[in-house]
Parts: sequence; structure tokens; C-alpha cells
Amino acid sequence: MTGKTHASCGALTGALTTQYFHTDLFTSVTILVLSTLASLLPDICHTQSKIGRRFRVLSFVIRLLFGHRTFTHSLAFIIIIGFLLYLIQTPMYYMVAIVIGIASHVILDILTPKGVKLFYPLPLNVVSPLHFKTGGLVDLSLATAFSFGTVYTLFQPFFNEFMLQWLN
Ligand SMILES: [Zn+2]
Repeated sequence: MTGKTHASCGALTGALTTQYFHTDLFTSVTILVLSTLASLLPDICHTQSKIGRRFRVLSFVIRLLFGHRTFTHSLAFIIIIGFLLYLIQTPMYYMVAIVIGIASHVILDILTPKGVKLFYPLPLNVVSPLHFKTGGLVDLSLATAFSFGTVYTLFQPFFNEFMLQWLN
């Protein structure tokens, strides 16, 4: 999946998190930023990715240590990040936003032909039986659907209000 697809899916998980926790405006904006960044984080192992280009040295080191789509795309990585956030007493809604953001990335990559090493360090490659080419039509459609989903989730109360007024 492209960075755009990952980011839009991250934004959607963030939007759903704000709905779930009924957060105030400031917290909601922070949640959206965090979940979007989190959804790009696993590709830090890829020097050409959006996040990899920003943190070149770190990206290079991670790639050297683990290779691409291994540790940063595994359950172990998600659990470690979750545990670290817990240790520094991150508020629940930020923790959920980040962990689900990362998980959304891993799930999307499972839908690509290359799959991910979900159980790293076990060398098992996990690929969905139904998978799609990165940059293809499905990839683009997903990005569009996630973006609409995000906007709808964020503005749902306004949409409802509008519909009610229109119906009366
Ligand atoms: Zn990835």
C-alpha cells in the first residue's frame, strides 16, 4: 500500500478513536496527528518511505538490523510500543490511537502480495489470500474510502443535525 493509503487509514482509526472516547477538540486533533503518524511508523524500515526519508539515519539502522517489513511490521513491535506508552503513562486515548494506527498499517500490508513477518522473529510470512498490488486501483480506492470515512466520522454530528433540519 502507498503512504497515502496508510495515512488515510491511520486518520480514520484516529477519527474513530475520538468518537469512542468523546474527546475535546484539542485532544481530538492530537489523536488524529498521532494515529496518522503511527500508521506511517512501521515503514521507518524503508529508507524511501515518507517517514524513512525524514529520519534517514534511524531508518538506515533499523533496516540494517532487521531488514524491510520484519520487526516494525510484527505483533512484537506493536506490543513493545504499547508497553512503552503504558510505562510513560500515556493517556488511554493516545495509546489506543497509536497502537491501532500501527496495527492498521500491518493489516494493510498483509493485503499486499509481499505480506509481512507478523510473528517476527519467526520467519513466517503472512499474506492475505486476497491481496492487491501497491499503487493499483484497490490501493487508490481504499485511500479514497478511508478519507471519506474520516471526514464522515469527524463531522457525523453535523451531518446528523443537517439531515434532521432538512427532514423537518
Ligand atoms: Zn509497510
